Amino acid sequence: ENEIGKLNVDFIRSFSFEDKLMPFTWIVIRIDGCHFHRFSEVHEFEKPNDERALNLMNSCAVAVLEEFGDIVFAYGVSDEYSFVLKRTSMLLQRQASQLVSVIVSLFTSAYVAKWKCFFPHKELKYQPSFDGRAVCYPSSQILRDYLSWRQVDCHINNQYNTCFWMLVKEGKSKSEAQRILKGTQTKEKNELLMHKFNFDYYSIQEIFRRGSSVFRVKEGQLETVEHSIDRLKIIVSYCDIIEDNFWETHPSILD
Ligand code: ATP
Ligand code: ATP
Ligand code: MG
Ligand code: MG
Ligand code: MG
Ligand code: MG
Repeated sequence: ENEIGKLNVDFIRSFSFEDKLMPFTWIVIRIDGCHFHRFSEVHEFEKPNDERALNLMNSCAVAVLEEFGDIVFAYGVSDEYSFVLKRTSMLLQRQASQLVSVIVSLFTSAYVAKWKCFFPHKELKYQPSFDGRAVCYPSSQILRDYLSWRQVDCHINNQYNTCFWMLVKEGKSKSEAQRILKGTQTKEKNELLMHKFNFDYYSIQEIFRRGSSVFRVKEGQLETVEHSIDRLKIIVSYCDIIEDNFWETHPSILD
């Protein structure tokens, strides 16, 4: 019986809707810090890149991969992270709202819980929040194009920010620095760094230039009586994910 007193439960249930993501597609959940421009100022992040903040983000991403075996890859830069679920995943029946909310909330609570490990002498002044969205990519090639886009974005932003903060730190106002950089191409920015600051852009740490990739690698074999199972460990790497080489070296990620 579905009647609880005078309540018609089937009728009430009929208002909820399903938001199942297309089967056999790569699901990407991308989360992004809300108003982190302000958050980074309030918490005095080093500019242009605070390594502690990135390591905190990476540690939260590792916690997400530890929780969900179906997440095969993650890529993070600045205040964002993209989580890739394998094509065949049936996690939470592929419901977008459930996948997004569970990943975003786990990531956020990890961020708060781990804060003091990465910023031992800095108080967390207010609760950070992240937004999240789900997108399906129908082929590995389009998924790779998505990831390449994020890494190109990382490069472009980082190069701009490197120039911007060098100008600001040598005494230019923020608006002046903005004006100098307006419309400049990659090559011009590299030259500005080289000639004005005698600074080689490519000497910057890879975590800043390339962003962070999180995935599982074989750590060895676990021998049981009947067969051997691969022992996997989750690693964080600052690699080039645009080139074929990375995906050829790690064929199991997108298999
Ligand atoms: P929105 O809520 O729309 O996402 P936002 O302020 O978070 O707004 P983003 O485009 O997401 O804007 O940019 C994140 C900003 O957070 C960066 O521009 C930078 O100022 C700051 N930020 C994030 N991570 C770091 C870091 N590791 N070091 C220094 N600054 C950072
Ligand atoms: P799911 O992940 O599917 O939601 P669940 O274990 O969270 O699984 P729920 O149906 O959401 O299952 O039920 C929440 C359970 O949490 C309750 O059955 C109860 O065991 C426990 N619980 C929640 N709040 C309290 C509380 N205030 N006191 C004691 N137990 C609680
Ligand atoms: Mg945003
Ligand atoms: Mg943001
Ligand atoms: Mg962002
Ligand atoms: Mg539930």
